[in-house]
Amino acid sequence: MIFELECYLRFSGTIADKEEFISDLLSEADDDLLKRGVPHGMEGGASIDYVEFHEDNIKLKLISDRYVRAHDAVLRLKKMLSQNMGKEFHIGVRGVEIGSYVVEFKCDHEPMEDIDLPFTNDIEFKGDICILNVGELSHEQLANNYVDRMINRVKEKVNAQHYEGKKEQWNLIWRSQQKKMVWDKDPTEEMEKRGWLMKGPTKGKWFYRPEAAKILRTMERIAIEEVLKPSGFQEIIESMMVPFDVWIDTGHMEGVPNEMYYVSEPVTRDPEEWERFIDHVKIAKEVPMDLFKELVSEPKSGICYAQCPVVYWSLRNQTIADDSLPLLVYDKTSPSARYESGGRHGIERVDEFHRIEPVYIGTKDQLMKLKEDMIDRYKHVFEDILELEWRMAEVEPFYLQQSGGGTAEEGTEEGTVDFEAYLPYRGDREESEWLEFQNLSIFRKYTKAFNIKSQTKELYSGCSGIGLERWTAAFLAQKGLEPSKWPKGFKERYGEPPKGLKLL
Ligand code: ATP
Ligand code: ZN
Ligand code: MG
Repeated sequence: MIFELECYLRFSGTIADKEEFISDLLSEADDDLLKRGVPHGMEGGASIDYVEFHEDNIKLKLISDRYVRAHDAVLRLKKMLSQNMGKEFHIGVRGVEIGSYVVEFKCDHEPMEDIDLPFTNDIEFKGDICILNVGELSHEQLANNYVDRMINRVKEKVNAQHYEGKKEQWNLIWRSQQKKMVWDKDPTEEMEKRGWLMKGPTKGKWFYRPEAAKILRTMERIAIEEVLKPSGFQEIIESMMVPFDVWIDTGHMEGVPNEMYYVSEPVTRDPEEWERFIDHVKIAKEVPMDLFKELVSEPKSGICYAQCPVVYWSLRNQTIADDSLPLLVYDKTSPSARYESGGRHGIERVDEFHRIEPVYIGTKDQLMKLKEDMIDRYKHVFEDILELEWRMAEVEPFYLQQSGGGTAEEGTEEGTVDFEAYLPYRGDREESEWLEFQNLSIFRKYTKAFNIKSQTKELYSGCSGIGLERWTAAFLAQKGLEPSKWPKGFKERYGEPPKGLKLL
């Protein structure tokens, strides 16, 4: 890695007769300050290539390696010069300006297509070596690690070009017995025909009439009574609107911004300001979009995508008492919204769905044990109550396998188990895609990102997404819509079918 930085340090006064003083400070720094961080016994660090003196600024060129990156080196020089010049002459260093900044580094692969990046003048490649010409960055941006993140982003983009189309790693860990399927119809279509549910008022939403609503609620009760309560989970109720800073810390804002539903607030509640808008609605019976745009603000939050981010938010910078560990909570009130676009299908891939999300925080050992317990209880539900044909697989997205960021390097404690069910309407058992109806994950990153600590040990966290629509879709696809044919365990818990409603 090579960093070559040409920059200007601007002083708050003239330095016309202070060249020698500054030169001495710089050559001292070149020997010591700019080498700090280089491992003992190694060569390297940052060096000053040349200095030019001007009326109230110096231009200098720094060449460095990964031990002391040039943008860090210049910030060190700025601080050192400010201190010394301040003491001696009451002159400070006002700012750092980049003349040109070129970083050369090796990527894991040669790119297959051009790469584009903000804050950049130009990106060139020689094989797998990237020559990144950094654009104008402010002092704050330099100090805030922009350059490091730009380097990482280039590497990530090159890698993504190579992983495109590759599937996530999928390892079967358990598979139930084959079960007898009652039918091979798509349950959503059949429920629609019977009037148990209808398409919702906007894309990808459903209106569940009593028959279908009761099935989802029965699923919810089973999850709570058979899995969450016996495992010791306590209910919480969280807000369904998530501010961007929380999603930045969880990674959702960079991971899935294209799947979010965003929320706008009115610019004002003052009825006078809305008067013309109201006039228009009363007369035209439609929303005047031009006026409307002026009256709502840019979104600063979005609708819940998964419930765990707000749980982490609620514990930011907290220390959890040992006797509250493992911390076990669940939310069942916040619906999740995801813009699924072309992927939508039936009730199993929708834009608004209902999940219970248990979230757990504890030591590695506590969560390993919890995971086993929860899997046993889930197994009891899917085997003895719903009598599903299903399987469990350990999954890891392709980019994680490659970066070593996941399970491979750090042992098997982190990772995700997907629970999948066979959907006969999709075709042959062996050939067709099974439905992921829930998952269970353990992570290390969230307790770090939100600085959640225990009194003694490092904490891990995790969550399990119990999708009520997906449980329902899996169950009905295998067991049909005739309650008399449903497994005894579910039939008992469902009870009498609701009266429903007749429409003429
Ligand atoms: P998929 O790969 O199917 O899109 P995902 O990886 O996006 O799923 P997660 O974010 O892991 O799903 O969410 C966990 C659970 O939430 C899923 O197992 C499922 O039960 C439910 N879920 C996710 N997306 C949807 C959706 N669009 N409609 C209904 N349920 C969903
Ligand atoms: Zn989660
Ligand atoms: Mg998804």
